[in-house]
Amino acid sequence: MNDSNVFLMISIFAISALIVNSIGIYVIYRNMKWVEKYKEYFMCFAAGVLISAPLISAFPEAIEKNHNAGFAALIGFVFMLFSNKLIKHHTKQEELAFGITAIQGIGIHSLLDGIIYTVTFSASIFTGLVSGIGLVIHEFTEGVITFSVLVKGGIKTKKAILYAFLVAGLTTPVGAFVAYPLVKRLSDSTLGLALGFVVGVLIYISAAHLLPEAKAHEKKHSMVALCLGIVLSLAMSFLH
Ligand SMILES: [Zn+2]
Repeated sequence: MNDSNVFLMISIFAISALIVNSIGIYVIYRNMKWVEKYKEYFMCFAAGVLISAPLISAFPEAIEKNHNAGFAALIGFVFMLFSNKLIKHHTKQEELAFGITAIQGIGIHSLLDGIIYTVTFSASIFTGLVSGIGLVIHEFTEGVITFSVLVKGGIKTKKAILYAFLVAGLTTPVGAFVAYPLVKRLSDSTLGLALGFVVGVLIYISAAHLLPEAKAHEKKHSMVALCLGIVLSLAMSFLH
């Protein structure tokens, strides 16, 4: 497929991620009641998409490009596990430190989100689309969470909006665009490894991050939202 098409898709999704993230920040700032009510549904739906997309689309594609992609996926998963452990370990401190360390974690995570758009779309438009939809939806809760963490850390609301935008919103397109020239130069087999790594990261985000978070505040229809996410991915793959 055409390079400029790939770049266009990456741009559309990276910018959408930024916009959806900003909507999340705005909505929680305005203290809109429906956020608390529907946040879990967004998380469950995103988790459903983000567990299916790697398993039915990105992973087979990665293996096709490189038979060792499974190792890369394992590394991706373990990388997320330990970086999150590290963040958790540090967050046992006082309130402000909690805010700052968690924010560093979110910043790195959002940068990685951007890189994921670039890697998946470079592998194929379809793989990019399936995982991209799940990712964009999870950006909403990410905006909500980032703002809340900052405010809990004692940062004034106006400043918290700006910081949340910089840390969780802007980092995603930055990650996508900075990664683009590098990913473009990768050989097909190296791209397979990069995609494998991304698969591990996505499975971690959905299974170990979004799902437990959603389960902790389980609502009546949260499993329905999760299944809808899975159905959407399946439908896309059948249409493909
Ligand atoms: Zn994210």
